[in-house]
Amino acid sequence: MKRTLIVGNWKMNLNVHEASVLVKQLNDHIQIHREVEVALAPSMLTLQPLSHEIDRRKFSLAAQNAYFKDEGAYTGEVSFTMLRDLVDYCIVGHSERRIFFHEGLEDVRDKVTAAIRNNIAPILCIGETHQERIQGESQRVVHDQLTTALSNLTAEDIDKVVIVYEPVWAISTFNGIHAKPSDIKPMVDIVRNNVKELYGATAANDARVLYGGSVDDQNVRAYLEIDGVDGVLPGAASLNYVKFSKIVDSAYKLKLDKRKK
Ligand code: PEP
Repeated sequence: MKRTLIVGNWKMNLNVHEASVLVKQLNDHIQIHREVEVALAPSMLTLQPLSHEIDRRKFSLAAQNAYFKDEGAYTGEVSFTMLRDLVDYCIVGHSERRIFFHEGLEDVRDKVTAAIRNNIAPILCIGETHQERIQGESQRVVHDQLTTALSNLTAEDIDKVVIVYEPVWAISTFNGIHAKPSDIKPMVDIVRNNVKELYGATAANDARVLYGGSVDDQNVRAYLEIDGVDGVLPGAASLNYVKFSKIVDSAYKLKLDKRKK
């Protein structure tokens, strides 16, 4: 059985001290689970100090972004090469980067390629906007984002890629508009079918597909129960140690319940 993966995306929050406090709280409240992997994605600034503070048996580390060139005159950037050995994962193609930093399909592809080249597992985020959804474009958008992003990879590389279906209309919603499992299931199936067309049935089966978009301790179980969903990527809820620990607990309890069946 695949390990459930929970990725906490802290976004542009918490300074070095605050990040360290949160890690201590998480450490006190989260157990080591063989069947649940917990990855933390703090800001670039806090990755290095946290790498010395976290218990690696409990937490993996993820960067939120990196530049696709390995080194050179690119003022202000940090490369995947620099993050090698420091992080296990890097989030790539998050909708906030596509929207606010104008990252296009090819930029995301180059980052996925650079991550794999540097032995970092890309956490590839894909998903349609509200406008695309009401225009009936969801399937095409997700297909285009996925196929372009993976286009430089071999079937062997696919094993390392984590794909997150994150409908943009469901991210950071505080107005009660959450994606329903019935919205997510067909899109997750489409993602796996796309991987199957590109790399075959085994790759599609083995691929880790997560859901992201306003996941919290109240709704996480319903998302994790969706057939084909191998984990979740909470943003806001990952900044609250009570909520985030409960999310991890729910994932663990679900694994236990499935084992009992
Ligand atoms: C995210 O950071 O990708 C995300 C889904 O955020 P939130 O859980 O706050 O919607």
